[in-house]
Formats: sequence, structure tokens, C-alpha cells
Amino acid sequence: MTQVRFHAEGSRASVTPVFDRLDARFGEEGAPVSMVELDEAADRHEVSVYFEDGDEVDADAVHAAFAPLSPAREDLPDIDWMASVLADLKPVRAGRFLVHGAHDRHQVRPHDLAIEIEAGQAFGTGHHETTAGCLEMAGRLIARRRPRRVLDLGTGSAVLAIGVAKLARIAVTATDIDPVAVRVAAANARLNGVHTLVRTSVATGLEGGEIRERAPFDLILANILAGPLMRMAPQMAAVLTPGGDLVLSGILARQRRAVLAAYRGQGIYHRATLWRGDWVTLHLSR
Ligand code: SAH
Repeated sequence: MTQVRFHAEGSRASVTPVFDRLDARFGEEGAPVSMVELDEAADRHEVSVYFEDGDEVDADAVHAAFAPLSPAREDLPDIDWMASVLADLKPVRAGRFLVHGAHDRHQVRPHDLAIEIEAGQAFGTGHHETTAGCLEMAGRLIARRRPRRVLDLGTGSAVLAIGVAKLARIAVTATDIDPVAVRVAAANARLNGVHTLVRTSVATGLEGGEIRERAPFDLILANILAGPLMRMAPQMAAVLTPGGDLVLSGILARQRRAVLAAYRGQGIYHRATLWRGDWVTLHLSR
């Protein structure tokens, strides 16, 4: 079984309706659909749809949804990190990252960006798909443009902050409403050797001196839940640089449009969506 990606390039105006059609036709079935800005000045955008099993794809339906663009087909190596579940503390791959417990240290390969997380701490067990989605999205963004000021809001175990610090070697502000999570986050940052880069503090949403001092951010990661994320949209806009990137998760597929609408109202627009199980991870930018 091989994963396959169909993709096409075009202006924003030409790829947007294709994105909407792919989303309507295949998104519900769980096929990730994404739209990525390749070059803003040249108005080059790329729209893609991913299928788990290349043999089962209805190629005519795919071509119809892409029309008038004609998609290229790419067979992808089988990345089976979805089969792993963080709740059992099996190592999980997301892009270049490997999230693992101490007992799986030996599974780290030379080119992995390993994130070691202590067992049983501050890890929402339902959050593994959203965590993996955020890591993958952050990895893609950082590959294209290195951020300078990063906020990990609702850091929990600090998994996202550690990932970004390891990948980009930059300082990350990591906050959580829960003081226990913040202690765990600090311990995990130390365990991963990035305690000089990951600055942890307790904060509710975007309130608090620490955040105000470090703002504005050009990359904000927030894996919380749709409700609080929608309520926070105005404050989020206030601390995001123009052109800054926002990665949101903890959002169910059916909540996606409502969250996008809340952010659109703040001048923050959709760039890409990753679907993992029932959850979506959104990339937006201002
Ligand atoms: N970032 C981690 C953890 C996500 S779980 C990951 O991606 O796996 C969500 C975290 O957000 C929890 O640790 C919770 O305490 C925190 N949280 C919930 N509401 C918050 C708020 N309003 N402000 C800050 N943190 C919040």
C-alpha cells in the first residue's frame, strides 16, 4: 500500500476553487487536502490531495475536481506513524520528528529530530493526532522560512516547543494555563537539551507579562480546542506579526469552517489544512 499525492500549481484564484472542490469531495472521507503558498510575489500556489492507498483512488473523480488544472501524481513512501499512538508511548513519527519515551531511545535514527517525552505526563491522550499534525506543519513551515520569535501556546509536555527549538535552534516561548504542565514542560526541555531555548511560564491565553514582553511572534503554535481558539482570535491577531504564521489544532473536522471564519474576521487567512483522523491542523497567516 502506498500513499499518493495529486498536486497542481496555479495562481491563488485558480487553486482556491480546486481546493474547495477537493475538500468537499474527498475531505469528508479523510483524505488530507492542502493549499500551500509557494511564492507570494509570483502568485504561485499549490493544491494537493493525499490518499492512503494509491490503488483505490478514483482517478476520474480526482481529475474532475482539479479541472481545469491537470494534476501530477506522486507516489509517496509509506509513512505509518498514524498507526502508533502516543498514549501507549510507542514512538510516533511526524515529518522528520520522532516523539518517543525513554525506553525507545534506541529507535532514534541518525537523521531523526528526536523529542523525548516522559511517560504519563501532561499529554492529552486524545491529542496525539493533533500533536503530530502540528509537528508536521511546523516542520514544513520552518523548512521554507526560519521564524525568529515563536510562541507555543498551551505547551503541555512542551513537545511542540522542543521540536521547534531542535529544528530551528531558536528561542521558543512556551506557556500553559496549568502550572503542573509548565513544570513538566520545563523538565522535558531540560531532558532534551533545549532548556536554554525553551522559556516556560504559566499564562492564561495571551494574557500575562511574559507574552506581552516577547510579542509580536512570527510563528504561533496553539494546540488547544476550537472553542478557546475562536474566542482568542482577536488577541491572537494582536500578537502575530504581519505575514506571521499561525498553526492551530485541537479542532474537529466539522469545526474547521467556524474556526477559519473567526480568524478571517481578524485578517488571518487559511493556507493549508492537514487531516488526521477526526482532527484537523490548520495553517493560517496574517
Ligand atoms: N501542545 C501540546 C499539548 C496540547 S494539550 C501538544 O501539542 O501535544 C492542550 C494544552 O493547552 C493543555 O496543556 C492545557 O492545559 C492548555 N490550555 C488549555 N486552555 C488554555 C488557555 N486558555 N491558555 C493556555 N493554555 C491552555
